[in-house]
Amino acid sequence: MFLTQEIIRKKRDKGVLSAEEIQFFVRGITDGSVSEGQIAALGMAVFFNDMNMDERVAFTLAMRDSGHVLDWRALNLPGPVVDKHSTGGVGDVVSLLLGPMVAACGGYVPMISGRGLGHTGGTLDKFDAIPGYCTVPDNELFRKVVQEIGVAIIGQTAQLAPADKRFYSIRDVTATVESVAMITGSILSKKLSAGLDALVMDVKVGSGAFMPTYDKSVELAESIVAVGNGAGMQTSAILTDMNESLAPYAGNALEVRGAMDYLTGRSRPARLHEVTLALCAEMLVLGGLAATEEEARVKLMAALDSGEAAERFSRMVSALGGPFDLVENPDKHLETAPFVVPAPALSAGFANVRDCRAIGLAVVALGGGRRRPTDSIDFAVGLTDLVGLGEQVAVGQPLAMVHARTEAAAQQAVKEIQEAYAISAVALTANPVIYRTIRP
Ligand code: URA
Repeated sequence: MFLTQEIIRKKRDKGVLSAEEIQFFVRGITDGSVSEGQIAALGMAVFFNDMNMDERVAFTLAMRDSGHVLDWRALNLPGPVVDKHSTGGVGDVVSLLLGPMVAACGGYVPMISGRGLGHTGGTLDKFDAIPGYCTVPDNELFRKVVQEIGVAIIGQTAQLAPADKRFYSIRDVTATVESVAMITGSILSKKLSAGLDALVMDVKVGSGAFMPTYDKSVELAESIVAVGNGAGMQTSAILTDMNESLAPYAGNALEVRGAMDYLTGRSRPARLHEVTLALCAEMLVLGGLAATEEEARVKLMAALDSGEAAERFSRMVSALGGPFDLVENPDKHLETAPFVVPAPALSAGFANVRDCRAIGLAVVALGGGRRRPTDSIDFAVGLTDLVGLGEQVAVGQPLAMVHARTEAAAQQAVKEIQEAYAISAVALTANPVIYRTIRP
């Protein structure tokens, strides 16, 4: 038996908490016996005095065990249970591609996705743009879809890692989100509760990334790899660029269309392709589905070229209640915006995305994201044809096409896009798309 205030005092005084102390505290977060003030105080103590890797592992496992932990063993799946998680970005449609591609290569992907946060899009919101698609199936249907199709992308349930839900909401309003130790525990407790054998983490770098600097992104990636493996789940991380939208489009229904164009081969934007293949290949290698990255890439391209990955996407959509012909007839099912207008370049030169975050915020302002947690989303709106960093533009040439609900919203977004781009006389060197892979 511990005293909650003594645990807080120990961390306040730079002590190292035992696994038992951490478990006691996290149980108290879940059952309500630890007060909001005490949670906030521990959060601030951890923010300043950090947790070592053993503490982080104990914290992550305790939060995982605060709710249901999925167990796939009874299904005797003939392949590994694997997933990817990203720190979030703009035009990051990778999950919609990666789940079906990895499933087509023999993996099982029970992906529990989240809503958009701040300027970043959320996979859950993208699936909500598909009429009929159920992002909150019961457990039985979720398991059946994973077993039969190899992939099911759904939303977070209240039963998974409830301690994180309470802790995160308090961190959010007490200025303690930005702690690598607590971010690690928060992300990994949710991923571990999905019962994964392996996880690949996509840690974004750049002006549209959640982490503010390259070094902080590396620190988070290293922490996630150490703690994930320490908690018994094979984990790697890839640092990828988020200085511009990953795909040349952003917005919920627009990203669903883009994902289907990618899977069917109609259009595979280069940066999106590079990041998707790198993450998928890492998953296949970690899951033992390929011996080397090269072999994994060959398998993945075969899954795309044969149409098998597109087929998995299509089957997942209809198994979860969406239209059976979404891939064939997107216009029949996905909403389109009434106003589609260009955002013209105000000068000639080479495009440079000054601020990727501003591009994401322009989508939010159009109604494609939420200002408040209770806001509803306009799935139709967003941006397409975003000019890439380093591309040459003439005066008046569109930097993007704005898809808006009203003329006024369109004009506002045009201004925001024009401000988010700088047009320079000389071409800047492009950023790498993949910066580093971090393995244990
Ligand atoms: N995302 C999470 O899920 N948790 C954090 O702490 C930060 C980002």
